[in-house]
Amino acid sequence: MSKFNRVLASTLRQPSELVAHGFAPTADLPALEKVAARYAVAVTPEVAALIDPDDPNDPIARQYIPSVEELAVQSGERADPIGDHSHSPVEGIVHRYPDRVLFKLVHVCAVYCRFCFRREMVGPGRETALSQRTYRKALDYIRSHGDIWEVILTGGDPLMLSPRRLAEIMADLAAIDHVRIIRLHTRIPVADPARVDDEMVVALKVAGAATWVALHANHPRELTAAARTACARMIDAGIPMVSQSVLLRGVNDDAATLEALMRAFVECRIKPYYLHHGDLAPGTAHLRTTLEKGQELMRALRGRVSGLCQPDYVLDIPGGHGKAPAGPNYLSREPDPELRYRVVDYCGDVHLYPPNP
Ligand code: SF4
Repeated sequence: MSKFNRVLASTLRQPSELVAHGFAPTADLPALEKVAARYAVAVTPEVAALIDPDDPNDPIARQYIPSVEELAVQSGERADPIGDHSHSPVEGIVHRYPDRVLFKLVHVCAVYCRFCFRREMVGPGRETALSQRTYRKALDYIRSHGDIWEVILTGGDPLMLSPRRLAEIMADLAAIDHVRIIRLHTRIPVADPARVDDEMVVALKVAGAATWVALHANHPRELTAAARTACARMIDAGIPMVSQSVLLRGVNDDAATLEALMRAFVECRIKPYYLHHGDLAPGTAHLRTTLEKGQELMRALRGRVSGLCQPDYVLDIPGGHGKAPAGPNYLSREPDPELRYRVVDYCGDVHLYPPNP
């Protein structure tokens, strides 16, 4: 059995397995079976090792262990919260902005996050990856749209593909003249770091386009020694990395945790990129914070860490209208005859700034 198949085989997928490991109470089993029938469950050995079964509020468990609260769907929540479908000209492609597309190659992940914005679209029971015919049609779409400068491989997790298949895809994309950037969104360095081996790193590098990797992690404990080694392997090979995190209630919605997470990214040479406000995915209200809370945390972060450690706090506008910066505002206009600006510093103190004559 290959090392990849060994991880797949020892991944926890059944609520009964989670109960047996002490990750969920026995009394919740019938409800968790209902949750698992609707939304995929997977907890790799690496992630399971991070969970403290004695802590009912463990921030790692909250991200990966299903909860009965997922059965409560709130008004406003929707199956396709960021409007992938309405911006999909051909299967596998989401074309929301003129210069870039999402290319959804696979429908599976190593782990399934309880807040996933594509939770209705990912998981076993669907086709694992695009068929060759669909893949070719998606490639033709990218080829015929000269404005597409960046292709973002997402899904599912593109690093679930074999290095051989990934190398073919990277080469196909890099052969398109106008595609200059190939970005991969992944949770693999956290969920299954051994997958990022030399073969995978070689597969990710391609002549003719720059590869970027965006790592999804939400808590500093997820950046284990093995995860850091996996990231270093890519970065040392010349692949720049950025971070993506989701603001999650009970996981990272306090300034100290966010600070530690952003510092950990920067120590790993990963530039903090996005802090996403939780999307309106069904059954995830218990994991979302308010926007005001997010803004308060961003204000706190600015007072605690350098600009290098600052992500953009963003909100995906439901319906597929793209991302909007959702962070606090530091600048306003004084209602006085001189029309001076009011500027708020990192301590919250207000200063006046003159307008240009
Ligand atoms: S890794 Fe990404 S796509 Fe997969 S379940 Fe988590 S958030 Fe969803």
